[in-house]
Amino acid sequence: MATHTYEITVIGGGPVGMFAAFYAGLHAADVALVESLSDLGGQTGNLYPAKVLYDIGGFPGISGQQLVEQLQKQVTHFKPTIKTATTVTAINRLDDGTYQLDTTQEPILTKTVIIATGGGAFTPRRLAVDYDPALDDKNVFYFVRDLATFDGDTVAIAGGGDSAIDWALAIAPRAKQVNLIHRRDQFRALESSVAELKASPVQLHTPFLIESVQAAGHQIDITLKQVRGEAKRQLRVDKLLVNYGFMSENKQLRSWGVDLDRNAIKVASTMVTSRQGIYAIGDVASYPGKLKLIASGFGEAPIAVNEALSFLYPERRQALHSSQLYH
Ligand SMILES: Cc1cc2nc3c(=O)[nH]c(=O)nc-3n(C[C@H](O)[C@H](O)[C@H](O)COP(=O)(O)OP(=O)(O)OC[C@H]3O[C@@H](n4cnc5c(N)ncnc54)[C@H](O)[C@@H]3O)c2cc1C
Repeated sequence: MATHTYEITVIGGGPVGMFAAFYAGLHAADVALVESLSDLGGQTGNLYPAKVLYDIGGFPGISGQQLVEQLQKQVTHFKPTIKTATTVTAINRLDDGTYQLDTTQEPILTKTVIIATGGGAFTPRRLAVDYDPALDDKNVFYFVRDLATFDGDTVAIAGGGDSAIDWALAIAPRAKQVNLIHRRDQFRALESSVAELKASPVQLHTPFLIESVQAAGHQIDITLKQVRGEAKRQLRVDKLLVNYGFMSENKQLRSWGVDLDRNAIKVASTMVTSRQGIYAIGDVASYPGKLKLIASGFGEAPIAVNEALSFLYPERRQALHSSQLYH
């Protein structure tokens, strides 16, 4: 049974939850950050670490991975309690007003809660064919953590959306050869990217589906079957990157007793939810005009933290600028 009671617990270690936990530390709050995956970083660290972001204030261009590394450095400065591989399953209010968070590990006691669970726990859409799971992360990939993984290799990329094309274009100059497999002749991507793709050395296989994936020594054999046709193609590659998109799962929210707007949590301009002492920020928060961007979430985090502290200490006036607080 938990004995310590945090002042603020942030649920979700994506970019917005990480920044909120840092900002709470800046205000000397006793804070815990809880993340269901084994690494912090959320969508940015897991879904697009190699993508360059151009819409983060102060950075003319920064990769998802670099942004997560900077956030990690920032969040650890005030030494908050960080619990990874821990999923919050329930938020219960005890008689004295404290919240008990049930998790997949120990329960957590906290006076206030900031929910930053984004699109929920996410998993990649997997290949629709059976293959040896031992090939995962060796020959078959669902995430790009480091572009160098594909250096000098023969690569196949499956998918026809923006991100499949972005990866094909990013990997092509480093790889021996890149094959792009898509079940339609048309791609669902920016016209400029499609034009760049067609002018690139990337070998297109459309409209083809993957029929089988089999180990071939340290490589893999991929059999392709034409959609609405009988033609087959055989590819032997070092690595297959599957880019069929992601499914996110946030049905837990429904049992947390906060008012929802479809799959997001309704908040007031103070980021407070329909439950006292519980706030929501980042992609999971909904209000008129909401934009699901990191920059918006970075703005919502200080609002929620200051509101949580004013709720806990109504008599205390919070300092506004970091120079008064950072040491
Ligand atoms: C391909 C792609 C490209 C993008 N490009 C940009 C861009 O260029 N610029 C931009 O501003 N935005 C971009 N975005 C959007 C941006 O990633 C999101 O706005 C941002 O990640 C939201 O951050 P967050 O912290 O609110 O949520 P998330 O990043 O979704 O993080 C939420 C975290 O909470 C965890 N979690 C969920 N449920 C629980 C639970 N019950 N218990 C514990 N932990 C839990 C999850 O595991 C996750 O780590 C892009 C998104 C995608 C998919």
